[in-house]
Amino acid sequence: MQSFIFLGPPASGKGTQAKDLAEKLGLIYFGTGDFMRAEAKKQSHFGQIFQRVWDEGKGNLVDDDIVLEFVKAKIEEIGQEKGFVFDGFPRTIKQAEFLNQELKHNLTVFNIEVSEDSIVSRSGTRKVCENCGKIFFKAPVDKRNCEVCGGGLIHRQEDTPGVVKKRLEVYNLQTKPLIDHYKSNNALVEIDGEPNIEEVALEIEEKVNERRSNN
Ligand SMILES: [Zn+2]
Repeated sequence: MQSFIFLGPPASGKGTQAKDLAEKLGLIYFGTGDFMRAEAKKQSHFGQIFQRVWDEGKGNLVDDDIVLEFVKAKIEEIGQEKGFVFDGFPRTIKQAEFLNQELKHNLTVFNIEVSEDSIVSRSGTRKVCENCGKIFFKAPVDKRNCEVCGGGLIHRQEDTPGVVKKRLEVYNLQTKPLIDHYKSNNALVEIDGEPNIEEVALEIEEKVNERRSNN
């Protein structure tokens, strides 16, 4: 059984690519951010903890141990009959080591690379539907409604320039070591995230097929 991890800075497009790959291969999209937001909405035990960190608005990550506990429970709930596509997890070496122990699947790790300039300009023009969660890239300033469900569009606080800068710092500090970790495990595949969504998706598909024929 094969599972995938997507690494990449904020606004690298990894969420979109992870969802797309999960759909193509019939795997479970493990959207850690989506799962966490759902908990916050329910105001569950975990949700209240997550909400507190987000309310600080500093772009900090939720504490390692809490995320581990949450992801462990989520994996148990879903089961491991199908492969996963992880988005937003792992974010630290500790989380990666946890996953190595917990997961019964082989791992391929995609690292989507984009320049800092692209990150800042992409974040500035990204809007999200408040109702269905659909993300709109390069959304014009006057675009206010979602054409899927009619919901209102918002510019997420996490996409504002100050928070993006902070998230990038946190990413460089905590998540970059993961790249070396997976490189040494021979699980890492580098992806150029600068082209458009469709081109990047094609590159990922090619790499998946390459790895399949090598195994
Ligand atoms: Zn919508």
